[in-house]
Amino acid sequence: MKKILITGGLGYIGSHTVVALLDAGYQAIVVDNLSNSDKEVLNRIKELTGKQVSFYQVDIRDRAGLNHVFRKETCDCVIHFAGLKSLEESIYKPWEYYDNNVGGTLTLIDVMREYGCKNMIFSSSAAVYGTPEQLPITEECPKGERMNPYAQTKSMQEQILMDIQKADPDWNVVLLRYFNPIGAHKSGLLGEDPQGIPNNLLPYITQVAIGKLPYLKIFGNDYDTPDGTGIRDYIHVLDLANGHLKALSRIQANCGCEVFNLGTGTGYSVLEMVHYFEQACGKKIPYQIEPRRLGDVAACFADPSKAKRLLGWEAQNGVLEMCKDAWRWQNKNPNGYKK
Ligand code: NAD
Ligand code: UDP
Repeated sequence: MKKILITGGLGYIGSHTVVALLDAGYQAIVVDNLSNSDKEVLNRIKELTGKQVSFYQVDIRDRAGLNHVFRKETCDCVIHFAGLKSLEESIYKPWEYYDNNVGGTLTLIDVMREYGCKNMIFSSSAAVYGTPEQLPITEECPKGERMNPYAQTKSMQEQILMDIQKADPDWNVVLLRYFNPIGAHKSGLLGEDPQGIPNNLLPYITQVAIGKLPYLKIFGNDYDTPDGTGIRDYIHVLDLANGHLKALSRIQANCGCEVFNLGTGTGYSVLEMVHYFEQACGKKIPYQIEPRRLGDVAACFADPSKAKRLLGWEAQNGVLEMCKDAWRWQNKNPNGYKK
């Protein structure tokens, strides 16, 4: 297994994974429609690895475009990151989310099987658990009521892939349920570059720290948690990228269909994250308590022991490291990838 096609490979998690793949000696073919990324990422990848990736500006819903890529490149496996990812936006634009995430995945799978490429690693999310029935969350934890169309698309994409693998055992599918990816490449050359006002906690905090936003709005301090603010399992994007390399070895071992949580197993509250970030950047982060955000759960953190047992994977970076790396990226690139 040498040649890996990465959909959404210029995005936040995708770009870090492309670097990890190139460093590990794989060949990377990137398909991205640039709806939430910048071509500058290609230069950064080249700078970091000294290697060139083959890039195709193609939308995964574009069958003819995908056919062109698969005709030119004989890929051994697809790592499928491409998708829309804002929980809140999905409530207002459900059609766009089902079309892009579910529709795009259906087209991608169809083209893959036409060209005999039946190996996929899929970016799923802890969002599929809804309000978790148990903490920490194991992979056996039932999928709860999905809180928004985004979570629903992730759950549907998982189901489609499971059914396809069941019907045709030539497929190997690894579903990776990410917890909360944060941090950036240690070089400060790659990181998260949200368009507009960030939805997620860490990019919001980094933009407060750099002075682009005046203060952090903390969504609720009346949850049933020790300090009343929401608890999440933050995981370094580099650890996440490494999880995909481990998943590739499962695919190579003809694993069938497998599901893994990728988290650290430790939850931190919003207030704790603010304090860690202050330590990382040496500045005060002003904040204000606001009402709870619609669709938020009180606490969500992983039991990552299955990934340790079967993938030999474990997160290496602690929370302070994650904050320091996020800050280095923001500080070096105040406008993200835009000059
Ligand atoms: P991102 O938006 O940075 O990256 C996604 C990439 O896919 C972007 O480069 C975008 O241009 C591209 N893309 C979107 N729709 C496309 C399409 N139809 N055709 C081709 N390219 C398309 O997001 P990310 O944070 O890197 O997330 C990657 C994946 O991981 C997503 O599927 C997301 O749902 C999932 N995920 C992310 C998080 C998170 O908090 N970041 C958590 C859990 C799961
Ligand atoms: N959060 C917050 N202010 C923000 C963004 C997020 O207080 O501007 C809180 C949110 O309520 C949750 C935690 O931070 O408790 C993580 O939110 P994020 O959107 O990053 O991840 P998700 O909710 O998708 O797990």
